[in-house]
Amino acid sequence: MPEILELLEREYPGATIALRYSNPLECVVATVLSAQSTDVKVNEVTTELFRKYRRPEDYLAVPEEELQQDIRPTGFFRQKARSLRGLCARLVEEHDGEVPRRIADLVRLPGVARKTANVVQSALWPEEVARDPDAGIAVDTHVGRLAVRLGLTDAGPKDADRIERDLMRITPRDRWARVAFLLIEHGRKVCDARRPRCEDCVIEHLCPSSQVAGKPDRYRLAMQARNRRPARSEA
Ligand code: SF4
Repeated sequence: MPEILELLEREYPGATIALRYSNPLECVVATVLSAQSTDVKVNEVTTELFRKYRRPEDYLAVPEEELQQDIRPTGFFRQKARSLRGLCARLVEEHDGEVPRRIADLVRLPGVARKTANVVQSALWPEEVARDPDAGIAVDTHVGRLAVRLGLTDAGPKDADRIERDLMRITPRDRWARVAFLLIEHGRKVCDARRPRCEDCVIEHLCPSSQVAGKPDRYRLAMQARNRRPARSEA
C-alpha cells in the first residue's frame, strides 16, 4: 500500500475533495448535498447557495420549502433540506455554530454518515485523522472499486465497512487522510469502472487486475457474482 500511495501522490499531488467550499460549514453542506448527485452539479448549486446561506442560523431562518428549492437540482432535496436544517440546528445548539472535528461528533449530525464524516475530517483537518480514535478512511464507489481491483481487500466493492477496515489495516495511519482522495482521483482519471486505462496507469505493475498483463478484472468478476446472487436465490 505505501508504494501505491507514493506513486499516486506523485501523479496527483493536489488530489483533494472536488467540491468547492471556503469554510468548514460549506464543506459539510456540500458533502451532504453530494449524496446521489455529482460534484459538478453540487458546485453549480452551491455557488448561489453559499452567497445566501453563510452561517448555520441562515439555514434555519428561511422556510424549509425555500431551502428545498435552493438545493433542488442536487436531487433528494426534501430529505437533504431536512438534514441540513437538523445539522445546522445541532451546530448552533451543541457546537457554538462550529463544525466539530471529531468523527464521534460529526456522525451525530443529521445527514452525516460515516463516509461523509471521514471525507469532511480528511479534507478539513487531516492532522486530526492521526489523533482521533474514531477516524477512518472514506469509502465511496471509486475507493471500493479500486480496493477490489488492486487486491487490497477480499470484500465485495459495495461492502464499505469491510473495505474501510482492510484499508486502515494496511495503510500507515498518517496516510489515512490521503487514501480516499488519491484513489478517487485515479478512479476518475484512469481506472474507469467500465474501461480502465491500464496502459496509462502508474500503478499497473502493482495491480492484480491489470488488463495490460491480461489479468482478470477483479472488480468486474465481483460485480458479476453480485448480480448473479439474487437470481440464484429466486430460483
Ligand atoms: S492497472 Fe488497470 S485496473 Fe489496475 S489500477 Fe491501473 S487502471 Fe485500474
